[in-house]
Amino acid sequence: MTKTFKYRLEQQTAYEHSGGQMREVSVADFRVSTAMSGVSLRLAPGTLRELHWHTNASEWGYVVSGSCRTTILHPDGTTYIDNFNSGDVWYFPKGYGHSIQGMGPDECHIIQIMNNGSFTEKHTFSITDFIAQTPIELVAQNLGISIEDAQRLPKKESYFAYGQVPDDSTLDATARSATGLTSMHRYPLMAQDPKRVPGGGTERVASARLFPISTNMTGAIIEIQPGALREMHWHPNTDEWQYYISGTARMAVFLGQGELIEDQFEAGDVGYVPEGAGHYIYNNGTEVCRILVGFNHGQHETIDLTKWISSTPNDVLATNLEINREQVSQLPQRHWFIAPAALQ
Ligand code: MN
Ligand code: MN
Repeated sequence: MTKTFKYRLEQQTAYEHSGGQMREVSVADFRVSTAMSGVSLRLAPGTLRELHWHTNASEWGYVVSGSCRTTILHPDGTTYIDNFNSGDVWYFPKGYGHSIQGMGPDECHIIQIMNNGSFTEKHTFSITDFIAQTPIELVAQNLGISIEDAQRLPKKESYFAYGQVPDDSTLDATARSATGLTSMHRYPLMAQDPKRVPGGGTERVASARLFPISTNMTGAIIEIQPGALREMHWHPNTDEWQYYISGTARMAVFLGQGELIEDQFEAGDVGYVPEGAGHYIYNNGTEVCRILVGFNHGQHETIDLTKWISSTPNDVLATNLEINREQVSQLPQRHWFIAPAALQ
């Protein structure tokens, strides 16, 4: 089979019930994505992705549309409650218990990125599964309820639970103990003033520097103008997981030894670039291409082609590229990041 760095995530069949929909992509289906995986989650107003944890992955989430509320329990017993809107980011350390609820009025669409290629959202540790598998008399003892009441609890993993949209005016929005501070887990990425490249596009980045709890992951939103090129580059210290939110692009991965694999990406597709591999993203459509990009490092490093060219001595370039001094002087003398549409 030909090696591919594209996975059509939103075209897969969803796991769905109780107003929730989940699609996921891991190394099991997307062979090149050995170090990262992802989930597309949709929650109807009131639907709860139940209390759960994962042992083997941190979770970096981006709200594509709609709004939701998360609760997260720290080992010190503090619960943090946060509300998220379109363009906001979350981070949950591995092993910490959390839940996510759609807040309406419309469906909430979330992309989750995990720093483990083997992670599967179907094999998380859910509170209902734990309770259902434990002897009933021990559940009753643990929760301080009668066996009769314990028998009314779910008999298997719920995963999604349908409920009412929580009302901020009620105590339902308050942790049952230990008042939650807010926003340790939330970063409003789209509210950030982006790096702008005239005629090229924009980039907003949430690294550990700006979002301290996200110690081992970074995420970005990049917008590329029609005809513009996120230039040839690579990342020395991280893999890259991409989700195409809107628009279309040609993205290629360069593996060395004469091998470059380019593919066409549409909204809902996932792309993957292994650590160190060269790549570029060219907007060949007529609208802005918006891409969510995740890295499995808190401070990702990047080397762009024009950064290299503009800081390399002229004689080295002339020799290496087999061109004369006049031609060398026409090459970029500064870092571009995104190359605007070609003048033709
Ligand atoms: Mn989770
Ligand atoms: Mn990149």
